Amino acid sequence: MQRRIVTVEGIIQGVGFRPFAFRTARSLGLRGRVRNGTSGAVLDVEGSVAEIDRLLAAIEREPPANARIARIRVESAPAVGYDDFAIDVSGEAGSRSPFSLVGPDLAACPACVSESREVGDRRHRYTLHGCTECGPRYTITTAVPYDRSRTAMAPFEPCEACRREYESPEDRRFHAQPVACPECGPRLSFRVVDGSAGGPASGATESGARLARVAVGPAALDAAVRALIRGQIVAVKGLGGYHLACDATRADVVRRLRERKSREAKPLAVMVRDLHQARDVCHVQPEEERLLESSARPIVLCRMRSDAPCAPEVAPGLQELGVMLPYTPLHHHLLDGHGGPLVMTSGNVSGEPIAYRDEDARSTLAGVADVFLDHDREIVARADDSVTRWMRGAPTVLRRSRGFAPAPLRLSRHRFERPTLGLGGHLKNTFCLATAELALLSPHVGDLETPGGVRGLRAMLRNHLDLFDVRPEIVAHDLHPGYATTRIAEELDVPSVAVQHHHAHVAACMAEHGVEGPVLGVAFDGAGLGDDGAIWGGELLMVDGAGYRRIGHLVYVPLPGGDAAAREPWRMACAHLHAAYGSGPESWPVDPMSVSVVPSSERRPTRDAWSLLAPMLERGLRSPPTSSMGRLFDAVAAILGFRATNAYEGQAAMELEAMADPAAANRYRFGLRESDGMRLLDAGPVVRAVARDAAGSEVAPAEIAGAFHRAIAMAVAEAACTVREEHGVDTVALTGGVFQNALLADLSADALEAEGLRVLLHREVPCNDGGLSLGQAVVASALVEPGDATPDGRIREPVRSEGETLQEEAASCA
Ligand code: ZN
Ligand code: ZN
Ligand code: FE
Repeated sequence: MQRRIVTVEGIIQGVGFRPFAFRTARSLGLRGRVRNGTSGAVLDVEGSVAEIDRLLAAIEREPPANARIARIRVESAPAVGYDDFAIDVSGEAGSRSPFSLVGPDLAACPACVSESREVGDRRHRYTLHGCTECGPRYTITTAVPYDRSRTAMAPFEPCEACRREYESPEDRRFHAQPVACPECGPRLSFRVVDGSAGGPASGATESGARLARVAVGPAALDAAVRALIRGQIVAVKGLGGYHLACDATRADVVRRLRERKSREAKPLAVMVRDLHQARDVCHVQPEEERLLESSARPIVLCRMRSDAPCAPEVAPGLQELGVMLPYTPLHHHLLDGHGGPLVMTSGNVSGEPIAYRDEDARSTLAGVADVFLDHDREIVARADDSVTRWMRGAPTVLRRSRGFAPAPLRLSRHRFERPTLGLGGHLKNTFCLATAELALLSPHVGDLETPGGVRGLRAMLRNHLDLFDVRPEIVAHDLHPGYATTRIAEELDVPSVAVQHHHAHVAACMAEHGVEGPVLGVAFDGAGLGDDGAIWGGELLMVDGAGYRRIGHLVYVPLPGGDAAAREPWRMACAHLHAAYGSGPESWPVDPMSVSVVPSSERRPTRDAWSLLAPMLERGLRSPPTSSMGRLFDAVAAILGFRATNAYEGQAAMELEAMADPAAANRYRFGLRESDGMRLLDAGPVVRAVARDAAGSEVAPAEIAGAFHRAIAMAVAEAACTVREEHGVDTVALTGGVFQNALLADLSADALEAEGLRVLLHREVPCNDGGLSLGQAVVASALVEPGDATPDGRIREPVRSEGETLQEEAASCA
């Protein structure tokens, strides 16, 4: 007889692993114990070598559905002669892995949902329970090991019936921390703002607005359903934060939500009752259905049906809609009662992170919601809904948050010798804690343009450092000195590395695919500070290991007025037209300053717009040079005359994609020239051709937009082919927020693959700035060797840039 101590690391706790180990070991006739350790589970087993091997095989091949095994370690030990197999619930044991892991939240399982629906079940119309297969995890965990006392369930002492379920290894609630019932668990409350009897609140935000509780338990549920049916806006406390819910079919209701939330046009997510309803709203492919039903229950971007029963105000100007299925028993009841579809959008005011603490939600959402449906189980950690899309045969994550985070990414090639923290970028911020072969990407933090956003980052960072018990020894941040993340990096008392924005984008894509390089990185996005001080965003980078060399980019044009240019595409149209024609509006075929098709709420450029812009474009006043591809999309949208200003980041680009004909002809072509080894993509010929077609009436706007996409894809393929000839590099990483554009990603990948090149697309890690933190961590950890810390604790990235200087280039584009 042999004895083995088997340590199973990964996401093991809260997924029914111990009952699984118990049943399997017993069925094999093994004796011993299984218990939770700080880094997973520890099995102490005695039996024959063959039996133990079979147990190991079962753990490896058929673990519980939601377990993610990172590593299994087996050690021999002298036999002690156990006489049975038991689950030891005495607490922690075992050696520490690099990380204590906490599982992501899991969608309500069918068994828990049907209990909640079943008349006569003791949980009938109860909505705040879970089991080993489902329910909150990360968002209720205060510390590890995962145990009820270290979760938001601690204040709820289980009743006799719940305790029996919790203690029985045969029950699906065995040691499920969210086990609860109407007797002993958290309770729903329905509140109205200002004590008015459910009447609409005034639009003004009153911090500290008074809420009156008017119903509890199942009555609260009924009241919320009635409010939704009446067309009210309901703040609903969910797993990782508050949602704002309302009837998605009513234009007046959705308009009111937009007005109160100061969210003019950005698309809103919709929750549908079930897959049938998803099919009524969108053309849903079978792969998209599987993604909708996965335990992460993300928002899935699907093509909207022209006869979708949703108000057009839900996603104005777009052809895709973000849909999701209910993921808590509470959602199921709301959708059953109302019928659906419901708008379910993050409970925040524009620009701020999603509210998750009751006090914050009440003060910030009281001016938006008419009524509140909340409960007394605390949300410990914030986790916004994740956003995904099915693209080129695989699920692709655009916002990695609830249901995914904080499950670690396993990087097949990269190893972090020392704990490393990547702080991410300024928009769509996430941070990344990495050590050994594991990289843990935080849930979506959001934009850091408001104090609330920065506070949200600091709070989540503190929480993660404690929860995962990691002390970073290297911190990586963006090259931009003005970002909040750069300030936070300076506060941490460890060596810091500034990583160039687009280098980080490419590194993230490479790390995800386990590719070390050399790789041609095509990084197209809105903006990132370059190492020459210009605003980059249309970059060709050669990346090998931790170093990069810029080998090409979109020809610089002035960014008139800096950030204002991103909000006002007409400015970029003028910048590109001025560069393309080498002169002012008198010689352009179109006038982007007199856009006629603008929604009434848009600020239109004023008549004297040119007198404002001319000094910027002619003398470079307040106009840093930029190679941004995102801004080129803005420019083309404004030249086409349908959007002069952006209500949200990337709006013009999203609408340009939505209107584009995917079958458009190959009618435009970028100039491609070489200067001192730098490949310069000149948008001038494309801009002139687009302007000519836009001014005429022969080419439909959909054709122009489609051909513009195609021209970019062709330029990418052409550049990649010359890079392959010169450097022998045949792998191309497509990265940066512009590649959220499914049409562009598709056309580019097709063009590259047709040339026999290998294409890397983002899958688990967002291609937008939500993926930067991983890339930063990878680059920084590879640069810093133990003992590398310079006296000032700063390490410079080895930039191997060659080619034109900024001045020469600015001159060449003038
Ligand atoms: Zn369940
Ligand atoms: Zn109970
Ligand atoms: Fe970016």
